[in-house]
Amino acid sequence: MKYTTHSLNIVIGDITRLRIDAIVNAANTSLLGGGGVDGAIHRAAGKELLAECRTLGGCLTGQSKITEGYNLPCKKIIHTVGPVWHGGDQGEDELLASCYRTSLDIAAQHGLKSIAFPCISTGVYHFPKQRAAQIAINVIKEYITQNKFEGDVTICCFCTKDADIYKALLADDNQF
Ligand code: ADP
Repeated sequence: MKYTTHSLNIVIGDITRLRIDAIVNAANTSLLGGGGVDGAIHRAAGKELLAECRTLGGCLTGQSKITEGYNLPCKKIIHTVGPVWHGGDQGEDELLASCYRTSLDIAAQHGLKSIAFPCISTGVYHFPKQRAAQIAINVIKEYITQNKFEGDVTICCFCTKDADIYKALLADDNQF
């Protein structure tokens, strides 16, 4: 889907394979690696990533920090900490939106022109997938249409089912 001169793309696959400016890692507050996409990124990037992450002093939920990409084909990794789903009344929506905002802010500050997100918090953190997708789309659309991020944004889904959620929401989006 094209917004102004930039775009929001939905792809299916392994985010560690993407040759773009930055990928986003769904990390935890330690920033020292974990399971899911975090584990895949650390394995593929190599030990130097963990060494740099050790210097960062962790990260608060909803915030983001940037590192080099090391052995990955992307240039930079933006590590963001999604909220654990506790039922929806613990500020989860705003914290998840903040993950997308702070990641895009950092990408813009570094002059990056392409960024890919995984479906943050929808794995072991159990955020409802459709609700998470709508939050992601809202923030990304705002950043692209208001030129707060001047580049292309990709949502990298790990399975077709996740991608179908995004495609359906975007198809229903009659604003554009
Ligand atoms: P969280 O703790 O934020 O829920 P997870 O890593 O458990 O993070 O899951 C987040 C999303 O990342 C899930 O949709 C999961 O299917 C997806 N995922 C796992 N591995 C990869 C990968 N290599 N590339 C892209 N997405 C992945």
